[in-house]
Amino acid sequence: MFMCKDLVENMMDYIDNELDMRTLEELEKHTSECPECRAFVDTYKRMLELTGKLKDRSFVTPEIRERLKALLKSKIKPC
Ligand SMILES: [Zn+2]
Repeated sequence: MFMCKDLVENMMDYIDNELDMRTLEELEKHTSECPECRAFVDTYKRMLELTGKLKDRSFVTPEIRERLKALLKSKIKPC
């Protein structure tokens, strides 16, 4: 069962289009059923698009990934 905390774990790979098909399906199924995660993904994508970072992969260093993960975890409550 895909949980909100799993979305946080897979968020960066999702943005990078690096998820395998099965995980991608689970994630998209979850966001279609969980308004909080859907809003979160939308906000996150919009933020990346606004800053143009979505196209600049070099921006996402492992260090930034870890910091983003920590940030995401603090924003989403486990459910
Ligand atoms: Zn959720």
